[in-house]
Amino acid sequence: MTLSASLGFENRFVDLLPGDKESKNFCRQVFDACYSKVKPTPVADPKVVAYSQEVVELLDLPESWITGKEAAETLGGNRLMPGMDPYAMCYGGHQFGNWAGQLGDGRAINLGERVNSHGQRWVLQLKGSGVTPYSRHADGLAVLRSSVREFLCSEAMYHLGVPTTRALSLVLTGDQVTRDMFYDGNPEREPGAIACRVAPSFVRFGNFEIFAARQDTATLRKLMDFTIREYFPHLVATSKMQADLLSAETYLRWFDEVCRRTAEMVVHWMRVGFVHGVMNTDNMSILGLTIDYGPYGWLEDYDPTWTPNTTDASGRRYCYGQQPQIAMWNCAQLANAIWPVVQREDSLRESLKNYSETFETGWQTMMAGKLGLRKFDVGVDESLVEELLKLLNAIETDMTLFYRQLASLPVESNLDRNRSSEATDTDGELDSMVSHFSVAFYDQRQISISFKSQMGQWFQKYRDRILRDGTDDATRQSTMNRVNPIYVLRNYLAQQAIDKSERGDHSMIYELLDVLRNPYQIQENREIFAEKRPEWARNRAGCSMLSCSS
Ligand code: AMP
Ligand code: MG
Repeated sequence: MTLSASLGFENRFVDLLPGDKESKNFCRQVFDACYSKVKPTPVADPKVVAYSQEVVELLDLPESWITGKEAAETLGGNRLMPGMDPYAMCYGGHQFGNWAGQLGDGRAINLGERVNSHGQRWVLQLKGSGVTPYSRHADGLAVLRSSVREFLCSEAMYHLGVPTTRALSLVLTGDQVTRDMFYDGNPEREPGAIACRVAPSFVRFGNFEIFAARQDTATLRKLMDFTIREYFPHLVATSKMQADLLSAETYLRWFDEVCRRTAEMVVHWMRVGFVHGVMNTDNMSILGLTIDYGPYGWLEDYDPTWTPNTTDASGRRYCYGQQPQIAMWNCAQLANAIWPVVQREDSLRESLKNYSETFETGWQTMMAGKLGLRKFDVGVDESLVEELLKLLNAIETDMTLFYRQLASLPVESNLDRNRSSEATDTDGELDSMVSHFSVAFYDQRQISISFKSQMGQWFQKYRDRILRDGTDDATRQSTMNRVNPIYVLRNYLAQQAIDKSERGDHSMIYELLDVLRNPYQIQENREIFAEKRPEWARNRAGCSMLSCSS
């Protein structure tokens, strides 16, 4: 079926903000403009190889459309639907801590906004649909492996309850793309693909930074006003909705909310063991969404210094444990960027402090949830958490499996004994408790006597703490299992789906998509998706090491 104009698209970003006067598509510096209009480059033979049912519904698109020819042509970039006015955004960014100048949508093209029946606006964006004025020296394309990763992770994160951009579809273009995956002089031809991402907005911290860097305060302010009015309308008094410019107080409330949302997002990352891998300021969403799934990874054995990104291997700037600090550093760059309009240093600093506080209390509540505590008791639970994280790091322990096993560890049977902390377990009890966690240990030989005894001490403390709460085992297990996923997009699982897909079998993409729909619930006959990383995947490219090449 053909979608009629009444089911068409709008384009507020284009209608309300200044655009590039140049209409030809060549690489250049773009000034005084938030975007450049540019059409996707046609592809040879587009095929939708996967789509998200939930996003189809979110966009009020008929099921018959997504499976039809019009969808393949549109989502592959060969045709436009009524109302689409495609554009690439102009932004800059700090990459690995250094100002990198103009970056922009080098291979992303926004098609337009779909307004659904609830009045929500969703931007559809193609990633990998050809060069734009921001492509610099690159080709504007994307390969299948990175597009599968983006597609699956976007939806997996959504179902985990993590703020994220969404993914509507994965299209094979029928073209080949050349990539040197590890930048080691071995380029190969790979299948080209395009993911269609969906979000209320793809505006990043870098969209503001570029205007501040160029001292273009007028455009900076226009973008700030647009962003607040469109995406943070609750911050604007109705009487000011029509006013030309917003007040300093509104900008400050907005910055405060961006900091808060960013902190909350990172708390979720830490909860589920997600490592973004490239937290440059151009990859930070102004809405506090996880954005740009590149060389991301999932923590397997708990190691705060782990980074999936080979480019980051030496500095580990973006490793798991650094994410909270880096997000705050990024918020500080945003503060610098909006300063020319706001000019209130103290208030901006206050919001950065609020970031820390939001993160700290969010982290505490999150850890209490992971442990099945009613509430984080500051002063008591800090050491409980700290000691646990030391234990998890002492021997290779799968973080995801550990918390699920902790949830099913019987504690109640010990409650009525009301033992004192000094009481010691018998060796038998200690062994059976440790072996309860064996599915989470990568190398049983690492379990030393001293490790066992430390674990025993920790569990004694944990039991006493649960005893104090008076939570029964069944309740504890069910509440813990609501925040500790059993299924995450393990790096090697994504790679297996990619390997198959590259051979023409796309079934595992759907299988993973389906498993990850219910990440907190044990699913029958799907045990293999909840296993720890197999040994063969330990050092395999794509499974534990990823580059930015995509
Ligand atoms: P990323 O590291 O993926 O966030 O990308 C950083 C910048 O490089 C962004 O401006 C991207 O649009 C751009 N970029 C990445 N890959 C390509 C590509 N294949 N073609 C054009 N631009 C790209
Ligand atoms: Mg990016």
